[in-house]
Amino acid sequence: MTRAWVEVDLGALCRNGAAIAARAGVPMLPMVKANGYGLGGLRVALALEALDPWGFGVASVHEGDVLRRGGITRPIVVFTPILQTEIDALRRAQLIPALGDPAVIESWIRTGHPWHLHIDTGMSRAGMPWHLVAHHRDLFARAMPDGVLTHFHSAGSDDESRDLQERRFAEGLAALPARPSLMHAENGPAIERRAPSRWSLFRPGIFLYGGAGFEGGPLQPEPVASMRARIVEIRPVATGETVSYDATWTADSPRRIATVPVGYADGYRRALSNKGVALLRGKRIPVAGRVTMDMTMFDVTDTDAALGDVVTLLGSDGGDAITLAEMSATCDVSPYEILTGLQTRLPRQYCEPSEATA
Ligand SMILES: *Cc1c(COP(=O)(O)O)cnc(C)c1O
Repeated sequence: MTRAWVEVDLGALCRNGAAIAARAGVPMLPMVKANGYGLGGLRVALALEALDPWGFGVASVHEGDVLRRGGITRPIVVFTPILQTEIDALRRAQLIPALGDPAVIESWIRTGHPWHLHIDTGMSRAGMPWHLVAHHRDLFARAMPDGVLTHFHSAGSDDESRDLQERRFAEGLAALPARPSLMHAENGPAIERRAPSRWSLFRPGIFLYGGAGFEGGPLQPEPVASMRARIVEIRPVATGETVSYDATWTADSPRRIATVPVGYADGYRRALSNKGVALLRGKRIPVAGRVTMDMTMFDVTDTDAALGDVVTLLGSDGGDAITLAEMSATCDVSPYEILTGLQTRLPRQYCEPSEATA
């Protein structure tokens, strides 16, 4: 019997993908990096195949390799800069690098394989600075990239910086000897904020996995991930007794405390100590004391909790839900960190689209 697990609703994932693709109006290049934002890169990519994406985006050669070995045949773009020493591995797995360094571009074009040019327009993280594209015109005249991209630093919050970055991107594109056949810039929040897309592809990430890019947007994603665990112990705690490390929680009356086998080593953040809330048969139960590495205690005094009962730490149960937005706000981290922080100790259970309730 599974004591603690993460449920992944692949039907909801696909509905989120269909919703944001409809708004973008162009084919998508879903980002399945970081093991599909923690939910399982290959499973997520295989499910998204149903939406006929242009290809997939990953962060590393290894992540791309995992998709290839799993049977993905569409284009796969690696979005972090690659080293010269990785060129062979990329070619073997038929991965498309996003390049910005002139020396690496020189080496790559000798392979004759497709590549995308990453133009840095203000993120200052990866890619060729937009004002240097003209300087390398000869290089591009010898081998035009198959696609050209940039990345916005504040897509979900700031339209002015996005306008500036788009002007720089246009400047970089104009400096190329020809118009590339593929151009992409928008992540999920950029499409939530402004659509249709101005380019040929868009690159959604967090929205697919149930995270809204910003508050009050026109699209709200369905939740995709749930974290659940069974109660493994229940004890009465007398008035004045304390719970967990550092004794930060004291019973102010006789209480019942339930222990659940999930802790910060599973990705249930320590910042949820004395603040987090979970669901037991649709009822909210508060975290009592510090979240520990492998266990968390909840005050279940006002419930009929029994051993083996399922506690929902993230996700919905009985009409109520601990949303990704709520959990990230409670521990003051981004929803990206909550999802990618879910550790592999929690087995993933997949709910296929056909089984999902609409
Ligand atoms: C992660 C990433 C995205 C997706 O961003 P979201 O905010 O999750 O939609 C798009 N493009 C690049 C280059 C990325 O690294």
